[in-house]
Amino acid sequence: MRIINTLILVMLSLATFAQLKPKVVIVIADGIPADVIERLRPPAMQQIIKEGAYTRAHVGGTKGTYTETPTISAPGYNNMLTGTWGYKHNVWDNDNQHPNYNYPTIFRIFKTAKPTGTTAIFSTWVENRKMLLGTGLPQTGNLSVDYVYDGYEKDTIAFPHDKASLYLHHIDEHVVSCADSVIRAKAPDLSWIYLEYTDDVGHSKGTGKEYDKAIGLLDEQMKKIAAAIHFREANYKEKWLLLITTDHGRDSLTGSGHGDQSKRERTTWFILNHPVTNAYFKASQPGIVDILPSAASYLNINLPVPVKRELDGVPIVGPVSVSNARLENTAKGFTLKWKAFTKTEKLKVYITYTNHAKEGKKDIYKLISTPSAGAEKFNYSSAGLLNQPFYKVVIEGKHNTINVWHTVKPAASVK
Ligand SMILES: [Zn+2]
Repeated sequence: MRIINTLILVMLSLATFAQLKPKVVIVIADGIPADVIERLRPPAMQQIIKEGAYTRAHVGGTKGTYTETPTISAPGYNNMLTGTWGYKHNVWDNDNQHPNYNYPTIFRIFKTAKPTGTTAIFSTWVENRKMLLGTGLPQTGNLSVDYVYDGYEKDTIAFPHDKASLYLHHIDEHVVSCADSVIRAKAPDLSWIYLEYTDDVGHSKGTGKEYDKAIGLLDEQMKKIAAAIHFREANYKEKWLLLITTDHGRDSLTGSGHGDQSKRERTTWFILNHPVTNAYFKASQPGIVDILPSAASYLNINLPVPVKRELDGVPIVGPVSVSNARLENTAKGFTLKWKAFTKTEKLKVYITYTNHAKEGKKDIYKLISTPSAGAEKFNYSSAGLLNQPFYKVVIEGKHNTINVWHTVKPAASVK
């Protein structure tokens, strides 16, 4: 009887959790390699992990392939925002940005799916909103963000620039204080908090004692955000996903640089506040591009088919079918491989020889097979394939869709 009662209680609490209104807060703390988080084990972040989850993650795309992307800040933010690597979103550096808005950001996807939902951005850089999100531009359908707190790097009266760049810490403190108030009072459905100080200390001092101190300051800031979320969850019928991550690691020599493809620059981390992760999260080292489909899943957004077919990420929360698509050329075609999380479901494999998606137009896909997911492999032969310099293969599962390209061009010329 007691077991039945416990079971009923668990089922009731699961049912209640499902009925709560979902909210997502994504934090990017700039330029922190995984080894630093794991060595310092900052107390507030440890507490969040204890209630949720931690994993090593990665940035930089797949090294040496067409998806390889520099371990630089703005490309990193746009990996997160669009769920794609540089060869699609087209942001390769912090300056001279030309994002390809045909790969929509999670902010735009959210606003399209839920026009009455609310979004928020808290950030030093105004470009994160005006350039990467592309607010107010015809290319993004005049995207707007409901709660905007950014551009502080230009306010030299409130934040006078000092030689030690401590003003960047003061800006981060202000950004966090604004996020704290807005979360408590307005509870936006989707928020992005961007914090810069850690990267600045990394550049000037490397990953030494000063850097550890900066992580300590960040930890205090995360304590505030976690407390604001606890306040909402305790007082409102809401469930909040807090995902804290970084845009890149640092070099292994001094830690002052980043941008290349070394293990330390590529190895990042995710901290989540609830244990809502799925089998893909446990089986892999997720990528920054996984954040978009994860946020969409948590917010109950059905991604449009053209978006799903271009996404380079896989959800780390909620149901998942497949990940890790690979193409291996054979004498008459290719072998397609993947990892399956639902062994019995039937997948749909499509091919197209065009890339009109890049111009915001439609690619015509042909269904070439419906293999069982558990096979994790499918051979395709076609005389027409042999001289094709380019094609895109899509694997559509019940819960998510992945893609892989055949291209003879290296990453630099795909862009
Ligand atoms: Zn950065």
